[in-house]
Amino acid sequence: MIPSRQPIDLDRPSWQLPDHPSDPVIAVSVPARDAQTLVPWAMSHRFAIEYTPDISGMERISDHLKASRRIGVPERFHGRYYGWDIGHPDNAVSQAAMNIHRKTLKALQGWCPTVVTFHLHLRWDEPFDSEKAVDNLSLLVEEGKRSGVTVCIENLRDGEASHPESVLSWSQRSGAGITLDIGHAISCPRVCRGELTVQDFIDLFADRLEEVHMYGYESDRHYPVTDVERFAPIVNSLLQTRCSWWTIELSDPQEILSTRNVLLTCMKEAIEFRQYLPRYRTLTDTTISTADPNALCQCVQMAM
Ligand SMILES: [Zn+2]
Repeated sequence: MIPSRQPIDLDRPSWQLPDHPSDPVIAVSVPARDAQTLVPWAMSHRFAIEYTPDISGMERISDHLKASRRIGVPERFHGRYYGWDIGHPDNAVSQAAMNIHRKTLKALQGWCPTVVTFHLHLRWDEPFDSEKAVDNLSLLVEEGKRSGVTVCIENLRDGEASHPESVLSWSQRSGAGITLDIGHAISCPRVCRGELTVQDFIDLFADRLEEVHMYGYESDRHYPVTDVERFAPIVNSLLQTRCSWWTIELSDPQEILSTRNVLLTCMKEAIEFRQYLPRYRTLTDTTISTADPNALCQCVQMAM
């Protein structure tokens, strides 16, 4: 009656092992500049790959991912283009930014269906026109759809994109999916001031959540997840959404591995204690709609 997930085997964490369904897939972030070392490393440690192309080297995607594609490593993409904001009030800048984002979508055409995460107001200290951003984002979402690329936007630590209400509104108006960056949420001013919690982000984004970026927090760089107590409820809530792709956004191999271990410990706890109940799966969900309504009420109450 209750949607269930397979047990997670801590000794065999993987995106693809027998009897170990990849839910969620755990990926590692691979910037193009580090692809030659990080792709083999990710393969040997059984991570999926989230690849960030260089603006000037889109054609190298195939080369960089040749080996991982040969053995079927799942892949997604991250378009992070500082200084090229599709919502910049200056038309010359926003149009140049659109060209770069379109070039990215074109480069992914041979590898669809796939998912790419873009950013709005990445340079948060620069001017930003949210209406123009949504108009341009809508064009990218439509162009992506035609070729099988799901376009997402991400919450950031500072600026307009640090407000989950703004990110949700842009997503709803443009049709883009949402990538929830947990480190940005933890480190954004409103959460630091106690006005919002990470759970608020999850609640707001749940219906449109395509991907999660995982690490402990952001200051001068991204730091690993070390605090099981803080992350257990976050992991527990994320397991209740349909989102099944988590990217660990760290670059140090030891920090990536230790973060995965903490996340898997949290997942194992959540699953063993059966706390992964369908908080976000509504009555329209076919799995739930066939369930006994009384049992469903109890489940939801237990999950709250
Ligand atoms: Zn991120």
